[in-house]
Amino acid sequence: MIMQLGDIQIDRILEMEVPFLSPYDAFPDAPHEEIKNNSQWLQPWALCSLTGKLIITIQTWIIRTPKHLILVDTCIGCNKTNHYFSEWHQRTDDSWYMKLLSKGVNPEAVDYVFCTHLHGDHCGWNTRLVDGRWVPTFPNARYIISRKEVDYVAAENTLAYQESALPIIETGQIQAVESDFALNDSVWLEAMPGHTVGHTTVHLASGGQHAVLCGDLIHSPLQCRFPQWKYWIDFDPQQAIKTRQAFLESRAEDQLMVLTAHFPSPSAGIVEARGDAFNFRFTQS
Ligand SMILES: [Zn+2]
Repeated sequence: MIMQLGDIQIDRILEMEVPFLSPYDAFPDAPHEEIKNNSQWLQPWALCSLTGKLIITIQTWIIRTPKHLILVDTCIGCNKTNHYFSEWHQRTDDSWYMKLLSKGVNPEAVDYVFCTHLHGDHCGWNTRLVDGRWVPTFPNARYIISRKEVDYVAAENTLAYQESALPIIETGQIQAVESDFALNDSVWLEAMPGHTVGHTTVHLASGGQHAVLCGDLIHSPLQCRFPQWKYWIDFDPQQAIKTRQAFLESRAEDQLMVLTAHFPSPSAGIVEARGDAFNFRFTQS
């Protein structure tokens, strides 16, 4: 277990933590001088000294409340089609699944799977390939996903939709919800659009404590310093910048624990104001 939030236990499993993209590619509009000037403090933990690429985690957060076992985002998975990154394509490494079991998570006991959005690195383990068919990895779970997000990927018929969403729609396990859906007083969504149409964050609260899983509204601690930089794959970059800026401002004010999807380990921390931008103070790992 990584942390306790009132009576909620929070843990995570990493699928990978690797150099991913050059910051010049990740932030195509960013002044090269600024990227260069900020390389030093990011190396080697957030920027690989050898490859010059940003280091990202791909991970699932495990949330145990007194009532429910919940997973937030399900990484890349095995056998999934991914044309963007060869490392994500047709993976056969099932160590994520093994780690899940070793954390004492019985797939049949998972009550809810939340996907902050439906990109391939957030919904891959929603399903797995058995005898040539995609079947739900969590046979008794409800999969909670923003209706806007589901409708968008369905209309686009994306690969992630075909492989990681449609099969659980067919089993009746997807619960397409409004972007402010609340499971109860301890777990609820907030709309944070921009990275995708229906991107949401997931709030957790218990015993007077409050944390938020921020999904892909931000990808690197470098963006705390430069929230105005466009991220290469944001669906609506201007909206994404507005969302990121507002999120960082709110978190610097309320000091909520932020559990990121992609920051290097330990991936969690507090946003602090720093001049006219922000800093991310990581928790102890
Ligand atoms: Zn992602």
